[in-house]
Amino acid sequence: MIEASKPIVGVVGLGSMGLGMAGTLAAKGFRVKGFDLAAQRRSLAAKAGVEPVESLADAVRDAGFLVFSLPTARDVEDVVSQHTDLLGGNNLGRVIIVDTSTSEPDVSRVLAARLDGLGHGFLDAPVSGGPAGAASGNLTMMIGGSQADVALARPVIEALSSKALHVGPSGAGNVAKLVNNLLAAAHMITTSEGLKLALAAGISAEAALRVLNAASGRSAISEVHFPTWVMSERFDSGFSMGLMRKDVRLASEMAKRTGAQVPLADVIARLWAESRDRLQDTDDFTRMGAFQPEASTEKKEA
Ligand code: NAD
Repeated sequence: MIEASKPIVGVVGLGSMGLGMAGTLAAKGFRVKGFDLAAQRRSLAAKAGVEPVESLADAVRDAGFLVFSLPTARDVEDVVSQHTDLLGGNNLGRVIIVDTSTSEPDVSRVLAARLDGLGHGFLDAPVSGGPAGAASGNLTMMIGGSQADVALARPVIEALSSKALHVGPSGAGNVAKLVNNLLAAAHMITTSEGLKLALAAGISAEAALRVLNAASGRSAISEVHFPTWVMSERFDSGFSMGLMRKDVRLASEMAKRTGAQVPLADVIARLWAESRDRLQDTDDFTRMGAFQPEASTEKKEA
């Protein structure tokens, strides 16, 4: 049931993550207006208790909070620029944008400063936990922004996440997220290589994975992604190769910009970039973990 005291939330981007988040907010009593460029995503939102709107302006108008779930920093920048006038002219008090997209720290800082000048807040609040976490309100959220804006956004943050970590000022959430995804991308490769080595040396991949997950070689990738999407060869986690390649590239660029010495990360970045030759942007990112010769793309293409 919609609670009259709860403000309107405009959700922009109703993809694998945004649709689940919009549905979660609606299920928790918010009035949610959802916008996506794709009409098919707006129809799905309507089935999840979200009011689909036909334009960005309709999502922004009257919203006390905006939640973004967009592919790239460029999309986030475009969306903010397109409705700066509308935000500047509204009289709802401080509107807080909770940007859950995995974006770029510098872009988040610029947008937060620009919106603060208009009397509004912008939090970089990227998430981990996948479409299932989005649909159940169990995301981990890593937040960059002011203490005051985080406090104002608390109802939305609490509805979407089971763990919310305020990392630091604007941009800090995206720095943490890029570090996290670099490690997840590395674990996808190291776990796959570990299983290839186990097979080559005569033990089954299942036995090797059981050991890793009971010992110090484990990670969320080995504990969740391998059993669910790689061993089963389902490869349908809902996170695309294109988006993960973007995150690894951004982490690698951050290392170059900051002068951090990360030789292994350079190799990981190269392997993800080179995977473009055999895996499409639309393929699921868990395909990068394929370790069985018969499951690998090279073999299929041979
Ligand atoms: P997605 O491609 O499934 O969805 C993005 C949606 O945004 C699409 O439906 C697209 O039509 C829409 N869109 C693009 N530009 C728009 C605009 N200007 N206005 C309105 N809608 C627009 O992507 P996703 O997997 O949901 O990921 C969204 C963000 O969350 C990305 O930054 C991604 O890196 C991050 N993320 C994804 C996952 C995951 O498991 N899928 C997990 C954590 C973080």
